[in-house]
Amino acid sequence: MAYTILDCYTDEPAGLGVPPYLGTYPRYIYGYLNQNNKSIKYITIDDLRNSKGINEKRSIQKTNIKRYNTTRSADETKEILNSTTELIIIAGVHTPGKYLSAVPGTLKEIIQLTKELNCKKTLTGPAVYGTSTEGGKFFEKADLSNFNEIKDFNFSYEEIDDFAVKGAGIIKQIPGLRIIELETSKGCSRKEHCSFCTEPIKNKISFRPKQDILKEAKAFTKLGVKYFRLGKQSDYYSHPEAIGIIKEIRKGCNPNVLHIDNVNPVNVVSKKGIEITKAIVKYCTAGNIAAFGVESFDPEVVKQNNLNADPEVTYEAGRILNKYGRERGESGMQKFLPGINLLFGLIGESKTTNEHNVQWLKRFMDEGLLIRRINVRQVDIFEGTPIYNTVGNKFIKKNKKFYWKWRNEIRQNIDFPMLKKLVPEGTFLKNVRMEIYDGKTTFGRQIGTYPLIVGVKQRLELNKFYDVEVIGHMLRSVIGRVKQ
Ligand code: SF4
Repeated sequence: MAYTILDCYTDEPAGLGVPPYLGTYPRYIYGYLNQNNKSIKYITIDDLRNSKGINEKRSIQKTNIKRYNTTRSADETKEILNSTTELIIIAGVHTPGKYLSAVPGTLKEIIQLTKELNCKKTLTGPAVYGTSTEGGKFFEKADLSNFNEIKDFNFSYEEIDDFAVKGAGIIKQIPGLRIIELETSKGCSRKEHCSFCTEPIKNKISFRPKQDILKEAKAFTKLGVKYFRLGKQSDYYSHPEAIGIIKEIRKGCNPNVLHIDNVNPVNVVSKKGIEITKAIVKYCTAGNIAAFGVESFDPEVVKQNNLNADPEVTYEAGRILNKYGRERGESGMQKFLPGINLLFGLIGESKTTNEHNVQWLKRFMDEGLLIRRINVRQVDIFEGTPIYNTVGNKFIKKNKKFYWKWRNEIRQNIDFPMLKKLVPEGTFLKNVRMEIYDGKTTFGRQIGTYPLIVGVKQRLELNKFYDVEVIGHMLRSVIGRVKQ
């Protein structure tokens, strides 16, 4: 058998696999197939687009991000596909965003590009539970008969122990820079779940043993990887060894970047939570963010959707992170700050919902607390979730007319002044990696979790690192000048 893994990229509430991130799905599957030393190739949707001459329009003005993450030439991709006997297609976006230098494949596109391939086609990844690359929508409907099999590999942690280490070898087939998204747990530790979330449908709660996480990080380190994010989990703080994991990765791998992602604010507000916060500041690298899945500060929406943290708890968690993490680190960014995720279209949303959001965010500002970034999305509706089973897209339809205004209120009144406090003019940001061109401007960012986008008004070499001085602010990004 000749296996090929086709990575069309994944984005879930608990886990990111859109370049520059390399998700867990291709790695574990590579390790699983690798057990018997079979021939396993890894290609991306960008390789496939490239090999088919799709989106070929060349613009010297703007970088083509649909073909940015190729791993090999078009001819080599064609050869691989011709000799493939089984194509394992990884796809699925549950929390769509805008990506600076990648575009995940939609089902429609994947089907279009693979329908003529003469091999077995297996669809896996979050797409098994649906996918949507645009906010505020039902999951994408498509004719799935293109695939011979739809399969959730759903490996246990005993299996992953072996597959993750063997899977690290996949990196040898990827010439571009990648951040490795490491997994610490699956499922959700809450008894009652949030109305919109797919995580409890996909997984029962279980924690990955610390030693296994470390073994995987070491395997990647041996292969030259220097960038890690502990992002594949619904709450980093709930892992019983949250401190030991980062301490040992720091000691055993000494990565250039070590960040975390999702955090339940409830678990920050405790003696143990404070200890974990201090350890994260100590062992991780600067620019780190605890993304709080707040979703809404409207008490009615919190109640009706069974959301995780009430506003007071979120505020207190934000205060704790500011207390220990707001000092500027070596990269030029603060060491560790809260990020806030908001969701429009939830059950019970009303005309006054965003007033609650703005009021609470203003409280952070007025009391001098920093929020590193605010993500605002529209909910996507997936089969099996409580929102799907009750109201569907009723509230999105009802309130859609307000969303631009609501988002803009947050951007103008909170994000913009907050950004000026976070990185005032004259701040130096180290190691900004230039990624794309748009006209005469080059856009780049530091490596890590939700890094700030920096626009420099000159054409700089892509994939190269520059130290940059902040000389101006946009709503959510900064204008920089290369430090001479
Ligand atoms: S807390 Fe809510 S959003 Fe987070 S994993 Fe659990 S159900 Fe999903």
